[in-house]
Amino acid sequence: MSLKKIYLPERFNYIACFLNLNCNFNCDYCINLFDGLDNKGHLIPGNDWVKALNRLVSRSDLPITLQGGEPSLHPDFNSIINKIHNGQNIDILTNLSFDVEIFAKEVNPSRLKRKAPYASIRASYHPQQINADLFIEKMLYLKKAGFSIGAYGVLHPLIKDHILKTKKKCEQLRIDFRVKEFLGEYRGELSGLYKYEDSVGCKTKRTCKCRTSELIIGPDCNVYRCHHDLYKGFPHIGNLLDPEFDIEDKFRDCDQYGDCNPCDLKVKTNRFQNFGHCSVEIKDVGGEK
Ligand code: SF4
Ligand code: SF4
Repeated sequence: MSLKKIYLPERFNYIACFLNLNCNFNCDYCINLFDGLDNKGHLIPGNDWVKALNRLVSRSDLPITLQGGEPSLHPDFNSIINKIHNGQNIDILTNLSFDVEIFAKEVNPSRLKRKAPYASIRASYHPQQINADLFIEKMLYLKKAGFSIGAYGVLHPLIKDHILKTKKKCEQLRIDFRVKEFLGEYRGELSGLYKYEDSVGCKTKRTCKCRTSELIIGPDCNVYRCHHDLYKGFPHIGNLLDPEFDIEDKFRDCDQYGDCNPCDLKVKTNRFQNFGHCSVEIKDVGGEK
């Protein structure tokens, strides 16, 4: 029996499906700090993901984004893509470590095409983990096979020059390459533009009310208030496989303001690529916890 439909609130801007929290890379600047999570390696079968995602009723401009960790480490990665119903648009965030030849054999490129100002497969380039030539070769292979694919790199101070050089090289090969600012701390300094003062990297935690515009789904289909809660193993607010689950678009009490994750608080582009968006809205910031 299929589960009842779940309608995404009009305000929602992102659907993040963390197929798994593991990654086969080990980047210094990774902000997916899953340390201390005892269920980091936990996976559920691909068919359960398909059942859960197929109950979502989204809009054509709001895709389901398969991500991680590294989403392709899920053993059913390709079959999840193939079994999500055609009405759902799909995006993928990957470090491109997977076998592109097998991927191109098993997945039809038309399944991952939709109208949007950015590619549906977004490959992050991490120079300390993958050779630039190999990365470009894999991008070109998938592009030639008909996939919508673009790259991005993080402008971390240690690799910034190399990223910009690789961007130039990619653009000469007609590969879309975008850059992202580095978020987090480097040499004691916090980088990134955050919407609310003292919300990130602050020693003091305060109370507040917070509501998100994202559906954050963890590896066992648990739904979280925000990235902070997922990464730190805080309690979930529901599970997408629960027949009774529905999205409650409301402000929730929180006492972690100050220790928010940069992913939730950064000022960024929305799905239309307009800059100035922040995933969460926060009000009534109060005293120390
Ligand atoms: S590839 Fe991404 S998720 Fe994996 S370690 Fe690097 S930054 Fe983190
Ligand atoms: S205030 Fe920060 S930690 Fe609390 S729910 Fe919002 S984003 Fe998450």
